[in-house]
Amino acid sequence: MSLDPREYQARDGLLQGRIVLITGASDGIGKALALRAAKLGAQVILHGRNSEKLEAVYDEIIADKSALQPSIACMDLATADSAAYTSLANSIETEFGHLDGLVHNAGILGDRMTLEQYDAAVFQRVLHVNLTAAFALTQVCLPLLKLSSDPSIIFTSSGVGRKGRAFWGAYSISKFGTEAMMQILADEQSHSGMRVNCINPGAVKTNMRLEAYPAEDRDKLKEPGDILASYLYLLGPDSGTTTGQSIDAQ
Ligand code: NAP
Repeated sequence: MSLDPREYQARDGLLQGRIVLITGASDGIGKALALRAAKLGAQVILHGRNSEKLEAVYDEIIADKSALQPSIACMDLATADSAAYTSLANSIETEFGHLDGLVHNAGILGDRMTLEQYDAAVFQRVLHVNLTAAFALTQVCLPLLKLSSDPSIIFTSSGVGRKGRAFWGAYSISKFGTEAMMQILADEQSHSGMRVNCINPGAVKTNMRLEAYPAEDRDKLKEPGDILASYLYLLGPDSGTTTGQSIDAQ
């Protein structure tokens, strides 16, 4: 990497015409990224589980008359079956023919408690939404990404995805798994021209952060819109052959 992705300055039109699917685009970091990517010319596919929230993001995007009209993909990652993933990929193929960017951003926190006390059903749900769902979505999207001239996959990690810490339970384990999935996929795709990387957003003022740290001073936290430089770098052409990296957004 020649430059620090955190310092990257996205130019107007950076993502012009790129088809980018963002999971968890209804809120937090995913929403902020969807709005910014659309502003930079991307054709955004807004994924989430709440159609009302997704429609609100859609409306915000089309309020800018120069933005391309986004698509909405409503699918609950906790319950989606293989037919739902296939149907999503088929819709993208029919509507756009290919995919240039896939951002795995959706996630849940689960419980903050010891492994000794951790509820097994919550453990399974967190692993499923944060890790298995990203695997399933990657699998159905790979053929569409391979049709792009500059494909990029971004996984979302965390500080506790690199170093385990007490009380972070299934969330931490899911993020270690995410780092592993990124490394494996990057290695497997190393000759295909596909970028596969992880971003650790750091502390960001979102609902998830509030759930994790209810007592902290939120005024000190970065807004989701302030930490997007490395996402835009990896989605656009300037990141070139950058792959297999785990990048800190802050
Ligand atoms: P957030 O505001 O809670 O947003 C999470 C997004 O994921 C929302 O759009 C949410 O949909 C969606 N989602 C959750 N469960 C889903 C499901 N079952 N099916 C479909 N969509 C689902 O969280 P965030 O802070 O922006 O987090 C985004 C990513 O950054 C996560 O992967 C998180 O682990 C990571 N991260 C965040 C921080 C931080 O400080 N914020 C730090 C490190 C890593 P709804 O709108 O319907 O809830």
